[in-house]
Amino acid sequence: MKILLLGSGAREHALAAALRASPLTEALHCAPGNAGIASLATLHGVDITDAEGVTALAEALSADLVVIGPEAPLVAGVADALRKKGFAVFGPGAAGARLEGSKVFAKRFMERHGIPTAPFAVCTTLDEAEKALAARRAPFVVKADGLAAGKGAFLPDSAGEAERICRALLEERVLGDAGAQIVVEDYLPGWEVTVLAVTDGKTVRILPLSQDHKRACDGDRGPNTGGMGAYTPVPQATPALLEKIRTQVLEPTVKGLAEEGISFCGVLYAGIMVVQGNPLLLEYNVRFGDPEAQVVLPALRVDWAEVFAACCRGELHRVAWPGEQKAAVGVVLASGGYPDTYTKGYPISGIDVAEREGTTVFHAGTAFGNGAVETAGGRVLTVVGVAESLREARRRAYAGVEKISFKDVHFRRDIASKALSAPLVGIVLGSASDAPLAKEIAKTFDELHIDYEITVASAHRTPDAVAAYARNAAFRGLKAIIAVAGLSAALPGVLAAHTVLPVVGVPVASGTLGGMDALLAVAQMPPGVPVASMGINGGRNAALFTARILALQDRDTAARLDAWIAEAARGVALSREKLAPLPPAPETAFSDGEDA
Ligand code: AMP
Repeated sequence: MKILLLGSGAREHALAAALRASPLTEALHCAPGNAGIASLATLHGVDITDAEGVTALAEALSADLVVIGPEAPLVAGVADALRKKGFAVFGPGAAGARLEGSKVFAKRFMERHGIPTAPFAVCTTLDEAEKALAARRAPFVVKADGLAAGKGAFLPDSAGEAERICRALLEERVLGDAGAQIVVEDYLPGWEVTVLAVTDGKTVRILPLSQDHKRACDGDRGPNTGGMGAYTPVPQATPALLEKIRTQVLEPTVKGLAEEGISFCGVLYAGIMVVQGNPLLLEYNVRFGDPEAQVVLPALRVDWAEVFAACCRGELHRVAWPGEQKAAVGVVLASGGYPDTYTKGYPISGIDVAEREGTTVFHAGTAFGNGAVETAGGRVLTVVGVAESLREARRRAYAGVEKISFKDVHFRRDIASKALSAPLVGIVLGSASDAPLAKEIAKTFDELHIDYEITVASAHRTPDAVAAYARNAAFRGLKAIIAVAGLSAALPGVLAAHTVLPVVGVPVASGTLGGMDALLAVAQMPPGVPVASMGINGGRNAALFTARILALQDRDTAARLDAWIAEAARGVALSREKLAPLPPAPETAFSDGEDA
């Protein structure tokens, strides 16, 4: 196939690499491209939002397939103009692109087709906006209707600030016609995930989930940007969540588009907020995300040229899916000062070294100058590590970053760190006075390299918090909960009643009964609410038992746990030697001495 790719960012460089890897690609052309894409494709200096210019180029090249990267040409109807001339185009026409081009259209579409989203009001006057704000509580969410290069969503903390934003959009028109209508919607507390899918208008295939990092600085601080990095897969996303996203969001979208007579071939990008395990759709995009594309395309081993061409033929169902899937982490190197003012034209060194050592480098704002590649934009490069695990992918990405330098380079050092340090075990204390036991559990987990979190919640005094914690635990990626409680010790049972995770109860020796009350309360659960009960103050065994559960699915944990137990056994052998000349203990007997 002769393929024409439109766009000039790191996303398009990743697309170019994915297309080049296909045996179906005979020739690859790109307009306008960048210094990185130049090594994979023939570049053409054409304005990609000019439908006539693009069609003329496709005709001159006799392109078999046109792949459109960014949203601007899609919203401008370039895909329609190409299709009219008979070209196969991967990317929706202007009607489908309204899902991204108009928030009002998108929200009403979601409403029409029962796709879960935040309750909202559409306002065209300040009076309407004030009424919509008055019906809500802080934080407020205000969005401009039209495309605003990622700067059209506002989350003000006070009603006064929200009103000022509405006035600026609707009356002062600070974003021009993009703010002629606005959406005011409920704030959704939860965690975000990006879902990319390809569709031919009938079949929808979900790509591995990814997460981007919008803020400029570490710890999600600083101004919003086009995206400073991304990773895939997202460990918190369970198969159950993915299934809900497929059945409640993506399939109804494709069905809804077809019902409304909008043919849609291309990428559906769903920005999703997960609230108590349920996906709510924040926004659609109609193309690959940047930087999500830079991690998702290399992580999923499929023949991308075949996938895009099959979508154009309406035959996506024939493509084998999914392919082999890896983990990938992408770190964006930006010009100092981005997203505000920055200087261009600095020479870049070390790209070749980073590539030789196994990272993939995608270009965005780069250009050829004075015989070398130099900076030519805000986001300059995306450095990507691909590996079997997120940890290794991240290590590779940052190893690549270290090799590359240009003046005033800025990048985040915490891309994917949240995914890696996500706790696996929640330790819930019924009272802050249980802290010494928590320390013992934490020490054992530290020795076993198991990430955990510690919180205090009382089944009697804060029952709602206990129930909410348990209900969210699995969706946050926890694999088990340890509940530490004394006296009537209802905590383990209440947690177990609200979660699908295994709950391990540790009775505490507090009060006048020395912990017997708590032991019986924890052990005597009714059928259907299982809790594993440890002995009184049995914090260490709770940690080891939980580690055994985790070890079933993780070989590293299993190996560390075996080593820990072997070390404990050596301690027993040593203490036995000290007691010689007692006869040797039978081989199978095991005690750690302390509890014997
Ligand atoms: P959008 O342009 O709709 O994707 O919004 C940009 C960002 O604002 C999202 O990625 C979220 O982080 C945040 N956001 C948008 N809508 C909401 C909402 N209803 N509740 C909470 N956060 C939101």
